[in-house]
Amino acid sequence: MKNNELVINWIIIIVVLVASVISCDKETGFNLFTLQQDIEIGESMDSAIRADPVEFPILDPVNYADAYQFMNSMMQRILQSDDFVHKQDFDYELTIIDKDIMNAFAVPGGKLYFYTGLLKYLDNAGNLAGVLAHEMAHVDRRHSSAQLSKYYGVDFMLNAIFGEDQSQLQQIAVDLAGGLAALKFSRSDEYEADEYSVRFLDDTDYYHPKGISGFFEKLDQDGKNGENFEFLSTHPSDDNRLANINEIWISLGSPGGDYFESEYLDFKTNMLP
Ligand SMILES: [Zn+2]
Repeated sequence: MKNNELVINWIIIIVVLVASVISCDKETGFNLFTLQQDIEIGESMDSAIRADPVEFPILDPVNYADAYQFMNSMMQRILQSDDFVHKQDFDYELTIIDKDIMNAFAVPGGKLYFYTGLLKYLDNAGNLAGVLAHEMAHVDRRHSSAQLSKYYGVDFMLNAIFGEDQSQLQQIAVDLAGGLAALKFSRSDEYEADEYSVRFLDDTDYYHPKGISGFFEKLDQDGKNGENFEFLSTHPSDDNRLANINEIWISLGSPGGDYFESEYLDFKTNMLP
């Protein structure tokens, strides 16, 4: 190989290395999107979701203001945690989808979606806070952003958000909400989201940090592990997952917290449709 070819090869290698360092979020790992792109993708996907009321029938925030208020104050308590990496970068916003599906999901940038099917299934506010904190951890650790960049590629996603046609983004939202195995989080992403769920709730000094465990235990008891659901479709809530949650809780030396059962009963019976 001639000298100048070697030099060109080295330049290419260096450019690739520098580019990958730039796109590697120092706290949350490799990701081809920038933080700003996370926000743009999230906003575009949110518009696409709102434009598809058959797939995503959104609970009216005016008529059901109490329900939104209940969940928003929970979210604000969780946002007090100093364990967030991107709290200043993302704008968290919660939407309730009025559909009898046991699911919750988040798009990049902080927009979160909870189905009434899941809200009605849960027994107490501690469990819901656990699930909410888990979803916020997926956003903060940029898990869905990384999954989207890996699966669709940056060009495809950017074309989709800057294009005229919303149907592509609607399909991506459906895929993300639970339809597509390739977009499921890895086991390590799920464990990390569980870990930060415990850390975030511990910082509230209010909800029991192990809120999410009670939810997994309830699913186990009810034999609901096989459902198409963000938390369980790729891997059941095995004992390892519960042990992982317990270990983190113990390592924090946490005093515990409450589950707020009667408040939750009021939420389910009087605030939801
Ligand atoms: Zn998850």
